[in-house]
Amino acid sequence: MSGPNTDYDPVEVTPLKPEEVESARDAALAAIAAATDLEDLKRVRLEHAGDRSALALANREIGALPPQARKEAGQRIGQARGAVNKALGERQAVLEVEHEERMLVEETVDVTLPTERVARGARHPITTGSERIADVFLAMGWEVAEGPVIEAEWLNFDALNLGPDHPARTMQDTFWTDPQDNGIVLRTHTSPVQARTMLTREPPIYVVCPGRVFRTDEYDATHSPMFHQVEGLVVDEGITMAHLKGTLDHFATAMFGEGITTRFRPSYFPFTEPSAEVDLICFVCRGVPGEVESCRTCRGEGWIEWGGCGIVNPRVLTACGVDSERYTGFAFGMGIDRTLMFRHGIEDLRGFFEGDVRFTTAFGTEI
Ligand SMILES: [Zn+2]
Repeated sequence: MSGPNTDYDPVEVTPLKPEEVESARDAALAAIAAATDLEDLKRVRLEHAGDRSALALANREIGALPPQARKEAGQRIGQARGAVNKALGERQAVLEVEHEERMLVEETVDVTLPTERVARGARHPITTGSERIADVFLAMGWEVAEGPVIEAEWLNFDALNLGPDHPARTMQDTFWTDPQDNGIVLRTHTSPVQARTMLTREPPIYVVCPGRVFRTDEYDATHSPMFHQVEGLVVDEGITMAHLKGTLDHFATAMFGEGITTRFRPSYFPFTEPSAEVDLICFVCRGVPGEVESCRTCRGEGWIEWGGCGIVNPRVLTACGVDSERYTGFAFGMGIDRTLMFRHGIEDLRGFFEGDVRFTTAFGTEI
């Protein structure tokens, strides 16, 4: 029989051997040093300082030692665990600082990023163009007049001296509404607004009428069944062709720049007498020899066809209830789409009507 093991040497208890303790401590310190972030360190802490770690398990062995052996073993384990805990604390502090710095970098707001992720739209160039034209006349004290696009045949034609046999009244040019004899058309020009103005108010009249008009044209690069016109009408005492010329020269300068004026070529319109075609000095080459020949805007002409004008036919004044003995007047009209086309070098009219936002935004966000 053997008695109590009085020769028990704590150094001989494997987990408490100095080299085992040292090895466990070194493994813990190495793992702590290698921990790359707080999450990693948490795992290391559990593995090397937790209840199931080598040092914790060794610590439990101390209680089984004889009293005289406990002190030395306790010191050895205590120092090792102290070193591990100290390293853990220091590494924790370092990683916390790193974590905070990284969060600051990652959460930094980049103030240079665009704030509006939704692309900004733009008003349609026809809208801004019409307003710009209207502004030229408003600045001279004129008024803007508007009328319906579905119009009485009489106002669209008869009142303007377009008799029943005029070619513009045939099916070829006009959109009629059903039934065809109801006398209602889609207006073929903005001139009925002039007739409406004269019928509803007394001279002096100074109005500009931008608006949408309809004709049974093909839809191609230079034609559209729907397009835009602007017309001007003045009825007052003593109005002459000179007033008309001065007004259109001012309009041309306001739209195309200093020095851009107009010329008149004799023409015929039923609602004016005399009538003229209006040309504009080419605002690109200005007709200068040496430049005009290669100019694409006026195609070497030096002039650009702009619209029509004339002295209001007395028969139109009379039809609209104006005393043609006392008053005279002038009228002019041009295409807004066409004006914008040569002003901005647009080669295909369809760009205005096809709703491609890239076309619209190319004109900027003018308000
Ligand atoms: Zn030119």
